[in-house]
Order: sequence, then C-alpha cells, then structure tokens
Amino acid sequence: MIHYRSIAVVLFAVLSSSCLADQHTFFRENVLGTAMELRVNATDAQSAADAERAALAEVERLSNVFSRYDANSELSRFASTPVGEAVSLSDELFDLLAMCDELEHASGRAFNPAVGLLAQIWDASGRAGKLPTEEVIRAATQRASRPKWRLDHVNRSATRLSENTLSLDAVAKGVILDHVAQAVLSSSRTVTGVMVNIGGDIRLAGGIETTVGIADPRDDRIGAQPLARIKVGDGGIATSGCSERSVDIDGVSYSHIIDPRTGRPVTETVSATVLAPTASIADALATTCSVLSVTESLALVNSIQGVDCLLVTAGGVLTMSANWPQSKASNVGKAKDDESTGHEMIVEFEIGKPSQSRRYRRPYVAVWIEDKDKFPVKTLSLFLMQNNPGPRWYRDLRRWYTDDQVRKVVDDNDLIETVSKPTRNPGKYKVKWDGRDDSGNLVKPGKYTLLIEAAREHGTYQLIRQPFEFGKPLKKTLQGNVEIASATVDYQVTD
Ligand code: AMP
Ligand code: MG
Repeated sequence: MIHYRSIAVVLFAVLSSSCLADQHTFFRENVLGTAMELRVNATDAQSAADAERAALAEVERLSNVFSRYDANSELSRFASTPVGEAVSLSDELFDLLAMCDELEHASGRAFNPAVGLLAQIWDASGRAGKLPTEEVIRAATQRASRPKWRLDHVNRSATRLSENTLSLDAVAKGVILDHVAQAVLSSSRTVTGVMVNIGGDIRLAGGIETTVGIADPRDDRIGAQPLARIKVGDGGIATSGCSERSVDIDGVSYSHIIDPRTGRPVTETVSATVLAPTASIADALATTCSVLSVTESLALVNSIQGVDCLLVTAGGVLTMSANWPQSKASNVGKAKDDESTGHEMIVEFEIGKPSQSRRYRRPYVAVWIEDKDKFPVKTLSLFLMQNNPGPRWYRDLRRWYTDDQVRKVVDDNDLIETVSKPTRNPGKYKVKWDGRDDSGNLVKPGKYTLLIEAAREHGTYQLIRQPFEFGKPLKKTLQGNVEIASATVDYQVTD
C-alpha cells in the first residue's frame, strides 16, 4: 500500500512539475522587521496570489509563536512563567527549543538563546555611547550560562530552570522560512515551486533553481558586486554578519552577535553564509559560525551532512568548506580593486513608514539611469510585484515600465538578483552604481538622469529626477515626498 502511494506521489510530482508554470514574484516590506521577496511557480496568477496570502498568514501565525517583541507571543508567555513550573508548548515552540538545545551542545555553547540579556546590555551601551563595565559583562555572561529550561519529550512541555532573557532570533526566521515554503507548496496543486527570501535568508523548495549572490560584507549595497554567485536548488541559505545591525560606541562598530562565552560582540568573522538542507539549519549555523573561530566553524559544518559555508574574517580572508559550490561566475578571491571603475554613485533613500493598518506594505519602487535619449542604461533596484505573464504594476510605475519596454527590445536579462545578506532594517535602502550599464560596460561620457520612481498600489505616485554628467561629481539631497521620505545622491569620481 505504502509502495503504491509513494509511486503515486512521485508520478504526481513529475506530472505537476511538467505542467508549464510561470514564475510570479511578490515583494513586501515590514515582514518580520525586514523585507520579503517571494517567487512562486504556478500555472495561474490566482494560485500565485493565494500562495502569497498563505505565505503571509504563515508568517503571522509563527511570529505569534516566536516573537520576543510581542508580549503575547507564546515565547514571551513561556519566558514569563515561574521558574520550576512545567508548561505545555505548541509543536513549533517545543521543536525549536529542542533544536536550540542540540545547537548549544554541538557548538560548544557558542550558540545560546539566553544571550538575550547580553544583547540588551550592548544595545543599551550603543544608545548611551558608553561601553558596559567588566563587572556588568561578567555578571550577565554568568547568568546566560545557567541552564535555561528542561524539556519533557513525552509530554512536549518545558520547565524554566532560571530567570533568563531568551531570544530565538538567531534561528526563528529560518524556521519560519521552512514553514512558509511548505505553506506555499500546499496552498494549491498548481503551485510547483517556491523561493522565499526574508531579509537575505532564503528557502527554496519544489525543485526551483536560482542563482543567489552572497553579499560582500565590505560593500553590501544594492548593485554592489557580490562576493560570490552560486546556483542553489532546494534547501536553505542564510548569511549572518555585522553590517546592518551593529552598534557604534566611540567610533567602533560592535556586532549584534554575541559570544556567550565571553559576553562580548564577535570580532573575528564578519560574514558567515551557510547552505543547508533547510533554512532553519542554515540560519542557526550562520549565526553560530559568526561566533566560532574559522577552524571551529569548518569542523562543525563538515560534521553535518549537506551543510557548507563561506566565511569572511575581519582581515578579509575568505574560507569555504570543502563542498562549497564554486560557480564559474564567482568573484571569490578576486581583489575588489580590480573591478573598480573609478565611478561610485551612492543613492540612499527611505520608503515612507507604513500606517498601522497596512502592516505588510507592497512598495513599488524603481531606481535607474537614463541617457540623454531617455534610454534606460542601468536599472539599479526594483521592488515590485511582478506577475508573469503580463505585469500588473505598469499602471503604477509608469515611467520605469515604459523605459523597460524599450530596454527589452535590445536586452532581456534579469535585472535584479537575489542576494543572501545579513538582515537589514525595513524601509532604508542604499544603492550603488559603478558607471556600468546593464550589460556590464562603462557608459559613454555625456548627460544622464538618475530617476527614482515610487508608487503605492492605486495610490500616490512620485518621480524624482536628478540630471548629472558622467564623470562630474555630485552630492545632493533630493526632495522627498509621501512615498520616498528622503533621498540623497553622492557621486564620486576617482582616477
Ligand atoms: P542572525 O541575524 O540570524 O544571525 O541572528 C542574530 C540574533 O540572534 C541577534 O540579534 C540576537 O538576538 C541573537 N544572538 C546573538 N548572538 C547569539 C548567539 N551567540 N547565540 C544565539 N543567538 C544569538
Ligand atoms: Mg541566524
């Protein structure tokens, strides 16, 4: 019986993936405090839209379990039960606590969800601009090393063993990604594949394949050359590092990842990317590898089947585990200076804050460069919902869309790549242009225009234009509006 059923399952998978599915792309702001990019392979647009709804509902359901910012989440409620009292947990929370125990053990306590108190201390120090004292660090480190909970695997309950500030942030996003991918695949029979990227941690399932860029910790602005590009299939990929969420004290940047053994922010590894069979494992190990030394990280990663990593140290040394998929397109090992064009235009902008009622914003934003004939030479960033076939957003991003139709006549490349990077805050974007066009060639001398176009679905519309001359430096604050709260351009030219 089981035999026949498994044959049927295989046949169904083959048949369903052989149907002609289109890829539908969705982009949302303010998902788990960052942004979500979702690609769904589905035979019709309605199924893809339903799949997006299922994905958001799953995010909502699980953030009600794992969030430490929400006092009513299951985690917060568990964290405030009296020490010594057993409580029944949902499968999701129980499984995650069990996974944390395993990780803590396997990492020699480099991974520790009780690091919450230390994280709060370093955050507060960042705000006050003053380092915490040795005594404060020592006391909090000691506290974090106490046993946190005891799990009863028969009754699936947990008992807190000490007062500790818990944070599951190092792994909860990965767990949510795995659940979201499953929810999308289960949402309809016509959905055959999914890629979901929340703030740079990614899960692929259903036989989808894509190329993912690994952000360079020295420059992870949109449009900057990634450190590497790898082809990934089903599984998870996550990057942890200091870039986006570090705190500054006296001009020194301190990572938000803490070594629970010393009580101090990590310094050796500035970026750790992990490929694993699931996003939960990738996420957990990316944080763990940021804490462990390079040698310890490699030993841990090599001991787990199907897991690989790419590590970057503060000194700029890159280390890959033995089976890291080195693609031909990879830039790993190349000196950054070899690629310098002498042109660097940095465009920073902030998308207006969402109102309370629209939690998961869907911003439509395009940043690009036109030449004097209004030909789009380079699209720098593009956030929008893209339904294939037939884009639905053309009404909203009308200028970019018209331009892109012109571009497509001569070039039909994918303009924006998926990048694995440390989680960034919602709303704020840094985009970089190095003077190259969409085909990678330096543009000709002459007059150009930088355009930032933003629209809200069937709502307000905004187009910012800034003319400039190629090769002539420019620094300017651009006039903001409802959609783009602020924007600056800084164009520098070096010989
Ligand atoms: P990630 O962005 O996945 O690397 O997770 C980072 C978050 O995990 C931090 O913001 C902290 O809340 C938490 N964290 C920091 N250090 C550790 C650690 N050593 N073990 C477990 N969680 C940590
Ligand atoms: Mg992590």
